[in-house]
Amino acid sequence: MSGGGGSFDFDDDEKESARGGGKAHKDFDCPSCNANNPVDDALAQGDEVRCNYCGSEFKVSVNSEGRVKFKEI
Ligand SMILES: [Zn+2]
Repeated sequence: MSGGGGSFDFDDDEKESARGGGKAHKDFDCPSCNANNPVDDALAQGDEVRCNYCGSEFKVSVNSEGRVKFKEI
């Protein structure tokens, strides 16, 4: 979980995040509407993701620190 301090109205699977260890990004927070979206595979450089809530599409980039960024397509 990234925290971030937004409000959240969605169920979070606590078991999932406890087990993950913070390495793989198996979900993302939509930069547009802040909804948390699960993804099947860990996010990687160049992936394209779509928010299930607002429908915005983003291109994924991962920087050298392993931080995931999204650029609206
Ligand atoms: Zn969204």
